[in-house]
Amino acid sequence: MNSPKPYVIGIDMGGTNTVFGVVDARGVVLASNSIKTRKHADFNDYIDELHTEIMRLLSSIDAEDKIFGIGVGAPNANYFTGMIEDGVNLPWPTPIPFAQMLSEKFGIPVAITNDANAAAIGEMTYGAARGLKDFIMITLGTGVGSGIVINGQLVYGHDGFAGELGHVIVKRNNGRLCGCGRTGCLETYCSATGVARTAREYVEITDEPSLLRDIPVEEITSKDVYDAAMAGDELAKRVFEYTGNILGEALADFTVFSSPEAFVIFGGLAKSGELLLRPLRESMERNMLSIWKNKVKVLQSELKEADAAVLGASALGWEAKPLTVTMVQPASAAPAAPMA
Ligand SMILES: [Zn+2]
Repeated sequence: MNSPKPYVIGIDMGGTNTVFGVVDARGVVLASNSIKTRKHADFNDYIDELHTEIMRLLSSIDAEDKIFGIGVGAPNANYFTGMIEDGVNLPWPTPIPFAQMLSEKFGIPVAITNDANAAAIGEMTYGAARGLKDFIMITLGTGVGSGIVINGQLVYGHDGFAGELGHVIVKRNNGRLCGCGRTGCLETYCSATGVARTAREYVEITDEPSLLRDIPVEEITSKDVYDAAMAGDELAKRVFEYTGNILGEALADFTVFSSPEAFVIFGGLAKSGELLLRPLRESMERNMLSIWKNKVKVLQSELKEADAAVLGASALGWEAKPLTVTMVQPASAAPAAPMA
């Protein structure tokens, strides 16, 4: 690309860290850094620190005038309004007009979406989904997120929130309580926290010997379950069977909606590899409507773990447009909320 502005900035705001980097058109992260998301009680102070640190980064690679746009992945961020609408894991009152504030601070166009959508765009631009026009990104982290791509376009839906597949109910009876307040959601079973929850249940319900019994039951993490399974622990392996089974059923269901060419699996749990993917694929095929049997691929993300979040967000920077006068303002966007 011979553009005079050959780079984009990607910002991935997580509940703990905000990671940012400068990325070129081929998806090379030229420089990156991070700040603590929760350090500032005032969102303006957070924006100030972010601006200072990004300018420092740009100056270190002589790129101050070379930025085409900024892409942001943040929890519950809305592509249409540029707002973080509900800060479940964030220390500030919402909604926050994040895209507008950043754009004014930097004088550069900003586009914003939720973290799973950013990952899908990153995968489509630089990763395993290059060349795919119909795929569904499934992110397996603390929760389960998804980004649905149909005919090369990310699906935002009427209000910007499409693709919350982690909150599809997979157990109608006696399902686990979910952070969303309902029960039986996919993410209560197939996220990293869901895996740990299953392991704790198995340890408490059975008296089968397991390496996991060496760990206080409330402290068992998905990483512990992975390590035990890799060491041959039968109980831990069954936790992955159970998880892969439920996720496979869900993917077979998701297929009927948009007929994806592939699912791309991303996030910490995806690194479990065949421990999870084998039962997942078997269950998906077992439950698949016959017209799609043995047609839908399950791919692992190709984005380098350390760069993935920033890459995904940065890819959105190429779509960023200058702010327009129709930008939704926080006051008019908020539905007559009671004063705090
Ligand atoms: Zn839920």
